Amino acid sequence: MALMLNGAGVSRGVAIGPCLVIRRGELEVLEYAIPRELIDDEVARFESAIKKAQQQLSQVRQQIPVDTSPEISAFIDTHLLMIEDAALCRAPINLIRRQQCNAEWALKLQRDALVTVFDVMDDPYLKTRRDDVDHVVKRIQRILLSHQEQADDIVFQRARGCVVVVDELSPADMLLMYQRGVAGFITEDGAPNSHTAILARSLGVPAVVAVRNACRYVLQHEQLVVDSRYGAAIASPDERALGFYQRCIQHDKSRAVALKMIKGLPAVTQDGCGIHLMMNLELVEEIEFNKEMDADGVGLFRTEMLFMNRVVLPDEEEQYQVYAKLMRAFKGRPVTIRTLDIGADKQINVNPLNDYYGSNPALGLRAIRLSLKEPQLFLPQLRAILRASVLGELRMMIPMLSNMSEVQQLYRLIKMSKAVLKEKGQPYDATMKVGAMIEVPAAAIAASAFARQFDFLSLGTNDLIQYTLATDRMDAAVGHLYDPLHPAVLHLIQMTIAAGEKHNTPVSMCGEMAGDPAYTVLLLGMGLREFSMSASMLLEVKGIINDSDVSLLSRQVSTLLDLDSPDEIMAAVGALGKA
Ligand code: PEP
Ligand code: MG
Repeated sequence: MALMLNGAGVSRGVAIGPCLVIRRGELEVLEYAIPRELIDDEVARFESAIKKAQQQLSQVRQQIPVDTSPEISAFIDTHLLMIEDAALCRAPINLIRRQQCNAEWALKLQRDALVTVFDVMDDPYLKTRRDDVDHVVKRIQRILLSHQEQADDIVFQRARGCVVVVDELSPADMLLMYQRGVAGFITEDGAPNSHTAILARSLGVPAVVAVRNACRYVLQHEQLVVDSRYGAAIASPDERALGFYQRCIQHDKSRAVALKMIKGLPAVTQDGCGIHLMMNLELVEEIEFNKEMDADGVGLFRTEMLFMNRVVLPDEEEQYQVYAKLMRAFKGRPVTIRTLDIGADKQINVNPLNDYYGSNPALGLRAIRLSLKEPQLFLPQLRAILRASVLGELRMMIPMLSNMSEVQQLYRLIKMSKAVLKEKGQPYDATMKVGAMIEVPAAAIAASAFARQFDFLSLGTNDLIQYTLATDRMDAAVGHLYDPLHPAVLHLIQMTIAAGEKHNTPVSMCGEMAGDPAYTVLLLGMGLREFSMSASMLLEVKGIINDSDVSLLSRQVSTLLDLDSPDEIMAAVGALGKA
């Protein structure tokens, strides 16, 4: 009998294959005392395990084919850097000496201390760094506990053509099984933002994560379907389901061939309308490995990651170096740098925010509100961005604006920053464009005023949806209410695009909605001409754009916006583009 399992789909395709259950599981780490005279030997044992772990990862890295996206090697590089970090390779040695304990136990103590720092963070991306620490620590622990890597290799060899069901999976192990021809993955742990999930997406391997107790429910060798589009897995599917999924695989294969053909080509609709496709970036490490991507530029660089998880905030010079690196990497293409969006789910651990406890952080001192209240935080950022503006086409973007007094204060601070730079003889581009994010309903309703004051607008739909529908974007309990197709959201998007058109101010979208292929034709029909998204979605969205006809879509969308039931809207979106 077929059995349906649910989790979070983290990639796009479907896979079918025999099930291979692998349990990586918890390692049993015991504490024991080391006699004083054997401490040096214990330290040597730890150092040799570190060396071996490095060799293993370097080997994985060498096996990555040269034409693979650099993003993929970066996952392994992150783990290699972690092994070399004093927090992992030196601190346990001090513990072995101080506590006279065994190497495994010292490493466990150090791991526990490191992950408590990540556990208190709200930011989903930084939380995934905890997984990286765990994966690296487990690799070293397995070596210390004499778990043979050859044994792993034998198991991984058997993964060819299989759907691997595993309790937990590191990026390196995923890569090894990918190289051996795995069909797909189902993991018990993991989250859509974990590195293993991101890796599955960039490799294009169908994967569903967070399927609780999956290893217990499936049988070794039974047939499994993984549908990563909908986060579903089916064990022992019947003939009808199997036929359906085989057709899906066939369809995806033809689509992949077609998408490869449009790499490097411009995004232009069938009726000749050119569309700008930009990418979103948030980490300094992403700059290098995404610069070759098929994007017209950067539509959103989230600067807050530079400020998070550190004891001393970056000064003007440190920020300038990062922005300059970004500008050089994308030379010749526009780069949009967003000023600080600290607050709510993105906290910093240093003054001025660590003594601020608003009763409702999402509605409190966040983003531009904090920047205007704390000029000592904001002015160095403005100066750093202005200095980098001479290195190319830099556009500065301001998050969470909601009223005109903020706009006046902002321009005053920009003027002050320019005056300081002028006095110091430091060059900046006096014509640098400044844009407003439209992510608060008030800003969308007053979009005309913002369009008059700014060089461009960018719709931050992640927050616009949250604030319009009073639905916390991070709270799974109200996830069913978080609806990009809610008529109120669509009207606000429409009003913003119309205000941009009226005042000749370009409007872009950089929220997740822009990179979701389900909404591409709708947004084209609504008049959106610049989309910014995660690099991995660029080709897929371009494929849809190049097949579209905007004049037909805009006619169809005008009637769709009069509908008020979510079901009718969903059906109408599904019918868009069909004459
Ligand atoms: C948004 O709100 O849509 C957005 C792009 O900003 P962030 O996700 O960083 O809040
Ligand atoms: Mg936002």
